[in-house]
Amino acid sequence: MTGDPGSSARVRRRSLLAGAGAACLLALAEWEPGGSRPEGARAKHLERVDPHAVTWVQTSDPVVALTFDDGPDPAYTPDVLAILDEFGVPATFFMIGRAATAHPRLVAQVRRAGHAIGNHTADHLWLDGRSGDEVAAQIRGGDTALGALGVPTPSLFRPPRGLTSPMVAAQTTALGKRTCFWGTSIEGDLPHHSPEVTAALNAARLRPGSIILGHDGGHLDGPNPQRIDRSRTVRALPDLIRLTRLGGFEFVTLPDLLSRGIAH
Ligand SMILES: [Zn+2]
Repeated sequence: MTGDPGSSARVRRRSLLAGAGAACLLALAEWEPGGSRPEGARAKHLERVDPHAVTWVQTSDPVVALTFDDGPDPAYTPDVLAILDEFGVPATFFMIGRAATAHPRLVAQVRRAGHAIGNHTADHLWLDGRSGDEVAAQIRGGDTALGALGVPTPSLFRPPRGLTSPMVAAQTTALGKRTCFWGTSIEGDLPHHSPEVTAALNAARLRPGSIILGHDGGHLDGPNPQRIDRSRTVRALPDLIRLTRLGGFEFVTLPDLLSRGIAH
């Protein structure tokens, strides 16, 4: 027996209505060539290098995870926390051990607000091409710095710049951690677009289980020192949150997201 055409039309109409809020965003996304989607070639490559890594979570729940790297940073983390608090959004912060040690009160503030914390190395050494000992020292150093501030040992790890290798993958797994990449990046669009358009582009790429990359740290010391202005990331956040919710999604922490489906 074939399906009832009336019923399938109703289903189609319902999904069209459900997607109406995001329709203008989808239109924007279509002319954006730089948009990395969770199911893209990059994800497939990362999956080969690190089969245990997470790029997105297959779930039927309409939830996504917002993540921030390179903090804590007194120049930006307080503003990010204030926006998350205003909108009631839980997030996940991948902290650099060195930055956590330098700004313990911000680490405490992130924890008090109920956000999740992940390991982003001891001092942001780029790990691809490094020996197993160097990689392990960076991961352990991040744990030690966070542990000294009372943060439970993170189970989630994000390599600086997402640079990985079979060695990085092996060490991460050996140390009992899971690598977390992302599907869409705020900073991937900011060089080409205003914060407002960047927010719309990122919101338009979301699907259930997406992971969004942002940065709350712009002052990196250590082996790869950098000074990066993150104020445009902060400016993009309110619109990103509003548009994400308009598209029917709610925010959860990365550990929460991982509990809701199958990691890819
Ligand atoms: Zn980083």
